[in-house]
Amino acid sequence: MKKATSIIALFLAVLMIFTSCGEIKKDDTETETTVTETTTETTTASKYSPDDKLIALTFDDGPGAGSTNKILDVLSKYDSAATFFVVGYSVDEHPETVKRAFDLGCEIGNHTKDHKYFTKLSPSELDYQLGYVNDAVEKITGVRPTLCRSPGGFYKGVLDQIGMSDILWDIDTNDWKKKDAANKNRTAEKRNADIAAIVNHVMNQASKGDIILMHDIYDFSADVVEELVPRLIDAGFKLVTVSEMFNAYGNKLKPNHVYFSVDFNAAVSTVKLDPGDYTVTTKGSYLNIRSAPDTEGTVIGGIPNGTKVTVSESVEGWAKVTFNSIIGWVNADFLK
Ligand code: ZN
Repeated sequence: MKKATSIIALFLAVLMIFTSCGEIKKDDTETETTVTETTTETTTASKYSPDDKLIALTFDDGPGAGSTNKILDVLSKYDSAATFFVVGYSVDEHPETVKRAFDLGCEIGNHTKDHKYFTKLSPSELDYQLGYVNDAVEKITGVRPTLCRSPGGFYKGVLDQIGMSDILWDIDTNDWKKKDAANKNRTAEKRNADIAAIVNHVMNQASKGDIILMHDIYDFSADVVEELVPRLIDAGFKLVTVSEMFNAYGNKLKPNHVYFSVDFNAAVSTVKLDPGDYTVTTKGSYLNIRSAPDTEGTVIGGIPNGTKVTVSESVEGWAKVTFNSIIGWVNADFLK
């Protein structure tokens, strides 16, 4: 049985290579369909472990002319990857840069054709803005984006229409405020100090599962990246794409959902607990309390790490607790 599984895995791996090279011929369509369905389930295999300190650098508004390539040079030098949320008009201008990013192992996400706020678009305009970029990127890389970033982070009220995962951020570098065009009389010394301040700001906040927001259209931002990437690596982080990071931590990215970082509390658990006293031990600062024993349940509170709680009942993966007069469900994996 085990041997059969590994032969199938090998077979799939070989076919996947062909698929990614776009070398499957039309008359192989039937085989291709079968492979796609099966590989959806096997994509959970990651080369990283949940114990790895993964973090995701993300860049918006590009690709830029020289700045994106400079960022790619840095990523390549440190064997790292990032996610680029591109705008359609720049993809049309710099398709070779999109291709280079993809070939280096980076992920290409969608930031609309014209940097339009989702909330200001009609359903058909939203479809057009996202579809345009998905088509353009797929034509260049062979892979259709599944992630988007709503420009300005305005997703409320339209999330159920996007058909993609909206990836926001939990560490904001505010790099655009320090771009050279907005700081014309800045001395080289001050510019270096501004770079150092952003790098320190990120390093003070960075923890595994975070998503860092930057913009790849400014030379200033590229210079920040040159300092930041080695600092993150020195601190033990591995820089990976958003999809790789969520996959490695067992968080399934779903369409029509918004994400700010990896929610460690949302990992799938099968643990069932006996009623009694437990201590919250999460990788984050808080363990989310949800309204229902499901990751779809609304977050109605949080219990600080290290807090003692009493479990009154448990279903597979979830435990019912009372904390500060909030009664709800928490992931049973994080009660010890
Ligand atoms: Zn933007």
